[in-house]
Parts: sequence; C-alpha cells; structure tokens
Amino acid sequence: MATDELSLLKSLERGEISPFYQPLRELRTGQLVGFELLARWEHPERGLMLPSEFIPAAEHAGLLTQLTEQILAKAFQAVAVFPGSFILTVNISPKQLLDRDLVPRLLQIGQRHNFPFSRLAIEITETALIENLDHVQAISLELKALGCNIYLDDFGTGYSSFAHLQTLPFDGLKIDRSFIKSIAKVRQDRKIVAALIGLGQSLGITAIAEGVETEEQASMLQYLGCDVVQGYLYGKPEPAKHIRSFIDAAYPRALPGVALQGSDLNLSSLESLPIERVAQLQAIYDGAPVGLCYLSKNLRYVSVNRKLAEIDGTTILAMLGRSVASVFPQWFPIYEPFLRRALQGESLHDCELSRPSRIEGESNQFILFSCEPARDEAREIIGLSIAVLDITERKRKEIELVESEQLARALLDLNPETPWVMDGAGNILDFGSKWEELTGFSREAVLNLGYLNTLLDEDRARVLLLTESALSTGSPIDYECRARRADGTWLWIRVRGKAVMDESGKVWRYYGSTEVIDELKRLREAVSIKTSHGGVPSTQIT
Ligand code: C2E
Ligand code: CA
Ligand code: CA
Repeated sequence: MATDELSLLKSLERGEISPFYQPLRELRTGQLVGFELLARWEHPERGLMLPSEFIPAAEHAGLLTQLTEQILAKAFQAVAVFPGSFILTVNISPKQLLDRDLVPRLLQIGQRHNFPFSRLAIEITETALIENLDHVQAISLELKALGCNIYLDDFGTGYSSFAHLQTLPFDGLKIDRSFIKSIAKVRQDRKIVAALIGLGQSLGITAIAEGVETEEQASMLQYLGCDVVQGYLYGKPEPAKHIRSFIDAAYPRALPGVALQGSDLNLSSLESLPIERVAQLQAIYDGAPVGLCYLSKNLRYVSVNRKLAEIDGTTILAMLGRSVASVFPQWFPIYEPFLRRALQGESLHDCELSRPSRIEGESNQFILFSCEPARDEAREIIGLSIAVLDITERKRKEIELVESEQLARALLDLNPETPWVMDGAGNILDFGSKWEELTGFSREAVLNLGYLNTLLDEDRARVLLLTESALSTGSPIDYECRARRADGTWLWIRVRGKAVMDESGKVWRYYGSTEVIDELKRLREAVSIKTSHGGVPSTQIT
C-alpha cells in the first residue's frame, strides 16, 4: 500500500471522510427530491479534499466499499433528525460492483440506522456496465428487491447501449454535466439532451440534469421536459450542518423543530410521475372529439388519436410510422398543398375539404382541417400538428336546407299569387319577383308608393282610399283592380292582405298577396255572370 493509501486508510479509521450533500430538485415545482452524497476528506493538514484527489487511491487500495459505508453511515445518522422523505443518492464505483459483499453490507448499514432502502439511490456510471453486464444486472436486481433505486450516472458520456437500458432496472438517468453546460448555446448539445430526456421518458425513467448553473439552462431543460435538476443553481454540495435550510424550505410545516412524517408533506408524491403524465395526456388525446395527429417533417404519422383513425376509417396501427401518402394515396393529393404550406410555416385554420369516401358508392366526405407547424426551441419547423373534424353530416344538412329553400322558391314561383309586404305608412317594402315578369315594371318602379303608378288611372284613387282606410283601422285588405303593364296593356288583379299591429295598436305591417284574376274576370264577363266582389262594380268593366 502506497503512503497515500495508508494515510487514506488511517483517515477512514479516524472518520475524516464525510459526505457533502447536494440537493436534487424537481424542475417544474422546485420541490426538494433529495441529496447526492459527495465524498470529502477533511485532511488535517491539506484541508478539504475533493474526490478526484483521493477516490482513485481509495479504489486502488480496495478501500472504496469502506469509504462508501462510512459516508452512508454518517449520512443516515445526519438525516435521521430531519423530517421529510427525501432520498439520498450514493456513488458506487465500477469496481465496487464486483464486490459480492456490497449488497449485504449496504443493507446492514441501512438497518443499523433504520434508514429505508426506498429512500436510497445508487448511482452507477456507464463505464461500469460494459464488461460486467450480467453481474451488474444481478446486483441491481438484488438492490431493487430491497427497494433501492438505481440511477445511471454521467449518462451520455460512456458506452451504454440501448441493451443496457433495457436490461438494467434504472429509475433515473443523470445526464452528464458536459451536455448541460452548453445546452443554451450549442444546438447540437441541446438536441442530444432532448433525445436523452425523450429516451428516458419513453422508457418511463426519470431524467435528471447534472451541473445546472444558470437560469437559462434551467428554462431550456424545462422546455425539453426534464424532470429533476441538480447543480450550483439549486445548491452546491454542503456539509450536513448546512442542509437544514434546504429541508426547512422544502418542509415548512416542520418548522420549528416539529418532527412530521415526511410522507405527509411530500407534495411531489401527490403529483403524477412523468409516465403518468404521459398516460393522462394520452387519455385526453384519445378521448378528444376531434381527430388529432402529429406528422413528422417528412409527413409520417408520429402520433394519431382514436377519433382520427375513426374519421379516416382505419386503425391507429395502420397509420403510425407510415407516410400519409402511403396510407391514403387517394386523399394525399388533396391534403398535400395544405401540408406543404404548413411546412413553410403557415398556420391553416378550418380549411374545408371534400374527399371521396373510402366506401364504394358513398358520396363525398367533408372535412374541416386545421394544421399548425410545430417548432423546436430554435423555432425550426420539426413537424405538423393536425386537427380534423368530419363535417359530412353537417354539410349534408346544409345542402338539404339549401335544396329545400330552392324548392320553396320554386313553389313560390309556380304559385299564381305574388306575395308582398307593406309598412304602416303604405309603402311596399318587398314583393315577389314574379310581379316584374308579369308587368314588365322594374322593382324600383314598384317599391314604396311606386305601385300606385302601375295601376290603371281610373282605379288609382279608389285603391288609395281603400288602402288608407285599411291602414287606419288594421282591417283586412281585399279589392280588385286593374294593373297596368309596361307595354300599355292591363290585367285584372285581386289584392288581399292582413295586418300585423305593433304594441301601440297601430298597423306595423301588411302581409299580402296579389292574384291575377284577369282570365276569370273576362270569362265571367263573357258569360255575363255579374259579381260585385270587393269594391269594384262589375259594370265598370269595359
Ligand atoms: P459525479 O457523481 O458526477 O458528481 C457530480 C460532481 O459535479 C460533483 O463533484 C459535484 O460537486 C459537481 N457539481 C455539481 N453541480 C455542479 C455544477 O453546477 N457545476 C459544476 N462545475 N460542478 C458541479 P465532486 O464532488 O468533485 O465529485 C466528483 C466525482 O467524484 C463525482 O462525480 C463522483 O463520480 C465521484 N465521487 C464523489 N463522491 C464519491 C463517493 O462517495 N464514492 C465514489 N465511488 N465516487 C464518488
Ligand atoms: Ca454521481
Ligand atoms: Ca455525474
């Protein structure tokens, strides 16, 4: 054993190696998650020494497990006085993982200090995994069986493959500080961190960012969906006597000195885990009454909700991962121009599209389609978010309505009578267009009091009188008279109307119709049947 190693052994015996505590916080809420235990040697001559100055020697001398035990024993003892169910994480070196005694020895310390393993996390570096995967897996499973959490440390710097992530039961991925450092400045690093966080999320593993020093880094991490953060911004490694303030701030009700059961206060336990959040969002997504999907830049379905599959008459599985063009070759040409515009940065809202039904013989489907470009943190377009509403039924009703309106108009045109509306002052406000065809007078010529000019001179004064008397009493209008045509001929008409009164009892409107009775009149004349309908004596007929 070298002199360095010997003095290290002595220092362990004298208890000079202690843990410093660095807080881990939930990024979204700032809630204290726990502390990482970082070894410090309070050297009697050299002062406080950092791990880099003695861990390699301890490892070489096979003293690391002893060192870990000492750190854990001190930490368990120190935190016993604090409320809260925050966790402690401890670094285990690759060599320690080969030690068959590791698990029983850790367990012994935990039991001795009555510290539950569910509050402990082991940090393993990626390099530890390469050669001894089977062994590491066995130890990990043993630790997990005891309730211990396992974090993959310095994630991104080592050689861990996806196989490691699948084989080992990780609860957390600690993204190495080297990526976080430049996350706000170097786009490539940001992309890597985004991918690492995404990988963690898709595997249901908490992403922890190490070495967060600035607000800028923190907000970028928040944007990327990172769960937990650690770094100088949230607290430097501190000796046990200084961590009270972290805990007091996290568990304010425990002040002053009232020991409360941590689990009562641990707000983060009420909050959903990232994987649960994803599940909640998925449920909302699937339950939405609108068809939703997200397309990658190359127009492939990245996510699809149930409603969209239903509208498109297929299954989510048949769409996911495939291009729109290959899933719906018949519709793609209809969508493509819109999708291309959105990829250029345009937001398209409520575009109405008509597309052939996939069911043979069925009429077209009508779709209300909105498309929003999705951008990354550098504002670059990375995909399209799409909402689709099937408005075929609504559209069908609209068409039916238009058709029934057209029908009503046609019926009206077939009707021999021409409707009209008159106001309380005797002005004609509106009348059926047939009247223009029938008389040859323009609409303008007939409106308001113009209609009086379209009567035969001999009948005008009488009609005016009858109308004025009706307007003053609100009694029904019913008279016959002769209407002039623009070509100088004339015809017999019968005019009838009914009053609608206002609140003060005055005439507000007359609604009526004009019927051409010319043939009837002439027929009657021919057979000399004399009638005296209305105010016009038949004797006047010439
Ligand atoms: P690590 O596990 O990656 O620990 C994080 C290191 O980053 C710590 O250095 C911590 O002080 C530092 N750090 C935390 N936040 C920031 C930050 O915002 N900015 C910067 N620049 N640094 C930050 P430390 O304490 O010097 O530890 C260095 C390494 O020594 C640790 O890296 C770990 O691998 C190892 N180590 C520490 N304690 C132990 C231990 O008890 N056992 C074993 N086996 N290794 C340990
Ligand atoms: Ca660590
Ligand atoms: Ca680390």
